[in-house]
Amino acid sequence: MEKKSVFQSAIERGVSRRDFLKMCTALAATMGLEFSQTDKVVNAMETKEKVPVIWLQFQDCTGCSESFIRSSHPTTESVVLDLISLEYSEVLSAASGHQVEEAMEAVIEHYKGKYILATEGSIPEDGIYCMVGGKPANEIYERVAKNALAVIAYGSCSAWGGIAGAKPNPTNAKPVTAFDSGDTPVMIVPGCPPISEVMTGVIAHYLTFGILPELDGFGRPKAFYKHRIHDKCNRRAYFDAGLFVESFDDEASKQGYCLYKVGCKGPTTYNSCMEMRWNGGTSMPILSGNPCIGCSEDGFWDAGSFTERLADIPLPQKIATVDPAVIGGVVTGVATAAVVAHGAATAVKKNIDDKKNTHEDH
Ligand code: SF4
Repeated sequence: MEKKSVFQSAIERGVSRRDFLKMCTALAATMGLEFSQTDKVVNAMETKEKVPVIWLQFQDCTGCSESFIRSSHPTTESVVLDLISLEYSEVLSAASGHQVEEAMEAVIEHYKGKYILATEGSIPEDGIYCMVGGKPANEIYERVAKNALAVIAYGSCSAWGGIAGAKPNPTNAKPVTAFDSGDTPVMIVPGCPPISEVMTGVIAHYLTFGILPELDGFGRPKAFYKHRIHDKCNRRAYFDAGLFVESFDDEASKQGYCLYKVGCKGPTTYNSCMEMRWNGGTSMPILSGNPCIGCSEDGFWDAGSFTERLADIPLPQKIATVDPAVIGGVVTGVATAAVVAHGAATAVKKNIDDKKNTHEDH
């Protein structure tokens, strides 16, 4: 098996140096590095070999693979052809059947301790409910994981159990962390599916720095899961002002008010959706009028239906009665929404204070 650096591979494919540098800049941005650190990424990509990846699918819907191949910064083409050497994938491998199973065995033998195992889907405790190539999923996972450099568990099924693990969980589906990976570290990258640039970003981090990114207590890369959706939300000013959508077709929904009362899980969800968005940074659920469904958190799917309100979240009092028509004419973005809500609150408070003072004067 031929060893090539990311740069060599890209140049041989006809990629210009300019485009190679653009890819490195996109990777640096995805990893949240300062622009001045782009040279570290360039240096790594010029000197380090492409990392071999075995991608195993278990009880899944292929949504994580679908997300992965929609990366736009860098492009899927750059990731699959230059950044990694995708040695085994049930979706993307050209070979199939015995041929591809034999190829995987050859990779495990040749790259022992040097390849990344990417997983998608949960594993039934009794592997018989998920067999690939005649072998139970738990046996395949444990053997491939123990010989890997690191395991990246993509998606909420691999990370937490996910939809296959939802009640009544007929296959007794478990996350990959419930199985033995030996001394191989496991990083989880939850989401249903995870954001494509986050999926490629964690591999790029390994290539650049030679280590996995810093993880939080759950095993998620901190860089991508440290922010709560609620704290970065473009509708947060409405939450704070107590202005809520009560049903999906009411006037408040047309005005873009907070979606908490129609089931938004943003207050308990940590992910990069607000910063990175989806489909090349185009949008994300809350921006398009849908509540966050908390897909990257433990307990998704059982932790409340899409439209069920979160319990135990103290609601702010409605501090202003604002004519939606007036707000609709004024609000044009996040900053404006915040100013309007704050302004309305201040005006109401001033009004109350004035009345109180007038009352006390009498
Ligand atoms: S509850 Fe949801 S829509 Fe409302 S501010 Fe929080 S994250 Fe945004």
